[in-house]
Amino acid sequence: MKTQALAVRQDMVAEDGKRALARARARAFGEFIREIPFATALLDRDLSLIAVSRDWGAQGIAPGLLIGGEAVAGGLVAREDAAALLACAEEGLAFSRYLPVTDESGAQRVWRTEFSACRDDDEPYPVMVTARDVTGYAESVLRAERDRQRLTMALELDDLLVREYDLRTRQVFFSGHAPDLQKYCTFKDDPLEIVHPEDRQRCADLVASRKLGEARVFEFKLKRDDGIETWVRSVGKVFIGQDGQPEKLVNLFKDITDRRRQTEAIETLAFKDPLTGLPNRTLFQHRFQEAVSASETLGEMFGLIMIDVDHFKDINDTLGHDAGDALLKRLAGMLQHAFRTGDTVARLGGDEFAVILRGLHGEADMTRPIEALQDLLRRPIQHGGRSFTASASIGAALHGDLDADPAHMIKNADIALYRAKEAGRNRSIVFEPSMRSEVERRLELLRDVRAALTENEFTLYYQPVVDIRENRVAGFEALMRWVHPEQGVLTPARFMAAFEDQDLSLKLGDVAFETALKQMRAWLDEGVEFGRVAVNISSAQFRSGRLAEEIQERLARWSVPCERLTIEVTENVYMGWGSDLVSETVRRLHEAGVMIALDDFGTGYASLANLRQFPIDRLKIDKSFVQNGEDEAIVKAVITLGTSMGMKVVAEGVEDAEQLEALARYGCDQIQGYHFGRPMPAGEVAGFLKGFGG
Ligand code: C2E
Ligand code: CA
Ligand code: CA
Repeated sequence: MKTQALAVRQDMVAEDGKRALARARARAFGEFIREIPFATALLDRDLSLIAVSRDWGAQGIAPGLLIGGEAVAGGLVAREDAAALLACAEEGLAFSRYLPVTDESGAQRVWRTEFSACRDDDEPYPVMVTARDVTGYAESVLRAERDRQRLTMALELDDLLVREYDLRTRQVFFSGHAPDLQKYCTFKDDPLEIVHPEDRQRCADLVASRKLGEARVFEFKLKRDDGIETWVRSVGKVFIGQDGQPEKLVNLFKDITDRRRQTEAIETLAFKDPLTGLPNRTLFQHRFQEAVSASETLGEMFGLIMIDVDHFKDINDTLGHDAGDALLKRLAGMLQHAFRTGDTVARLGGDEFAVILRGLHGEADMTRPIEALQDLLRRPIQHGGRSFTASASIGAALHGDLDADPAHMIKNADIALYRAKEAGRNRSIVFEPSMRSEVERRLELLRDVRAALTENEFTLYYQPVVDIRENRVAGFEALMRWVHPEQGVLTPARFMAAFEDQDLSLKLGDVAFETALKQMRAWLDEGVEFGRVAVNISSAQFRSGRLAEEIQERLARWSVPCERLTIEVTENVYMGWGSDLVSETVRRLHEAGVMIALDDFGTGYASLANLRQFPIDRLKIDKSFVQNGEDEAIVKAVITLGTSMGMKVVAEGVEDAEQLEALARYGCDQIQGYHFGRPMPAGEVAGFLKGFGG
């Protein structure tokens, strides 16, 4: 008990001693404060003023001014900061404030006040106050604050995000209002981490090419693990410190996903082929121009490949458009497979495709993928339970000769493609300068024929076909003539290429039918007994699948009976692609009463047995057999065979009586040739008939 009481008393003595010591120290500190050469004051723990620096006093701030009245600590602290001042005195928590003050002259000043309490062991010192006039500085701080607010508003309005990366401390700060964006713009070591792997190389290249202090714009996809596609546009700039070293990287980010989707949609519409998803002709031309300028400026070698599906129209006509579309899609896939991702594979329209190959080292770089493509093409295509094969003709051109005009590349590849088709399709040909002239002549001819069609320069000549048993004119073959304004009357030998051109042969076919029918109508009206007129049909005319209807419509329109018309079809047309279509068309015409003649018999590959399925009324033995004496046996056999199959046989190209006599002996019914009459203008027909009848 006793010892305990003693201990308590000793404590009290110690406590009293401590207090006395603290007060003594405070007094000494107060002396020190008074000597400090700037505005400083010392408050007691009960917040009464102990000391004020002489300097502050000289400014008219006397202890009397500071303490008293309503203001806390003599007006040094705003009322709402009373609690902070208390916490400073009791717990030693320092704080500072900007304090508006009106000076003697009535001007508004700003003071920066700092309140701090120093502890000595667990005994706090009184509070020390320092004050500085910071009027000018405060204004700039306020201005900066206003600017900051404006910037923040702008950032929020536009959903922008600012990222500052301190290159020295590696700290990252964000400002702006785009929480989602911020999440994916955060990185650990490398700012490029946030870029989607697809775009990273491109961005890295951009970064590498950027000069210090230069702003660069990037557009890239963000790397997100949730699979959501987010595109950003970023302006990035490295700021240099006062020591000339890179100090910080500042990036401004904006989410452009919506805009990007819109542009993509527009680009898809404008630049993509909807069926295959490949670049279309517009984009192809764009890329071609890029290749041309790269070759002009960098001397880069590039290749151009034109691809045309063989007999695509026939596939469409016979297997249907679905099969055609399936084939085009398959081909698009094969092309993408055969060529590198950097190559531009485009669909130019219809069954025409093109590939631009950049950065080549030689012809092999181009022929290798072509061979790969041809390998792929050999595999059958399955569609709707059916399997079919397709082939393609390929024309290629290489721009290696840097003196040549790269813009000619398209034409050159086209010429090579044309050559490949002409050589029997299903092959590839690389352009050589020697190919040009011949093909150019051909293209020129087609151009001229097109112009001549619009000028109505085509007409028909009529060559008699004579029935030698009855000794009368059985009819006439209508043969096309081009009444050329400068070169006179040209025979088809001069414009044969036009009959092989899809578009032109249809137009010429139109002219032939309309001219012949109009003429027949006129002869019928005039009472000219012409028998039948034979019109030649080229293979393209069968392709629409409507030829039978078209012919019957025309006959009806001109009121010419079907029995007045013969159509001449060569055996190669019968045997070619889509022969189902040909036989169906021919059968319908035959049933309607149109006579069907098999033209140029013997020059193709068909045998009569092959032709049994077609309702052929007449066989026309080609003039090469008739005129060649050594082929007598063949002529004889054809006549015998044809007659036995119920066909009448016409011999073409009979020029003299000797030939005529032999043919009559073999049992040939009808004769066509110069012996009886050359092809003549329509106006001479009536006179010829009169002369023949005698
Ligand atoms: P083609 O159908 O075999 O026509 C017969 C050709 O032999 C005609 O030549 C005719 O003038 C010629 N010829 C007739 N008799 C004799 C003769 O005794 N001796 C000789 N040396 N030749 C004779 P053309 O008029 O020059 O026609 C050539 C080819 O042009 C025709 O051969 C035919 O394949 C084609 N052709 C002519 N008109 C048309 C047409 O309207 N449409 C189509 N698709 N082809 C046509
Ligand atoms: Ca003919
Ligand atoms: Ca013929």
